[in-house]
Amino acid sequence: MGESVRQCTVCGNLDTTEKCYVCLDDRRDHSCVCVVAEVEDLWAMERASIFSGVYHVLGGTLSAIDGVGPDKLTIQHLINRAKTGTIKEIIIALSATLEGQTTAHYLVDRIQGFDVQVTRIAHGMPVGGELDYLDEGTISAALKARTPL
Ligand SMILES: [Zn+2]
Repeated sequence: MGESVRQCTVCGNLDTTEKCYVCLDDRRDHSCVCVVAEVEDLWAMERASIFSGVYHVLGGTLSAIDGVGPDKLTIQHLINRAKTGTIKEIIIALSATLEGQTTAHYLVDRIQGFDVQVTRIAHGMPVGGELDYLDEGTISAALKARTPL
């Protein structure tokens, strides 16, 4: 086995370093944060290499049925990142499911009052196993067509 994998202390991505390669990359736009549910979503976007900002992995979506409340996700950590004032735009790239929508609205509520623009990608992210269908054209179009929330 090689180096152990750990969670990036900034965005929640998995890497062998304390900060992942995305967060350490100075050429990326650190004022633009894309919020995804799972680390697999981040990897899918990286594979398509259509996003030049940085990420925030929530660790799931809010779900009353599954008992997932805000404290189970890294929402407070995202608020703390927004509080630092370095973030200009937060792009919500969650699925178009009820849970995804609920989470998006909750985030908008929490982020209101900060000087941060919150937008959402046009069609939502594919869920779980559908990630293989995520192609560059689709997600790129969804990113470009993002709308303010
Ligand atoms: Zn990171």
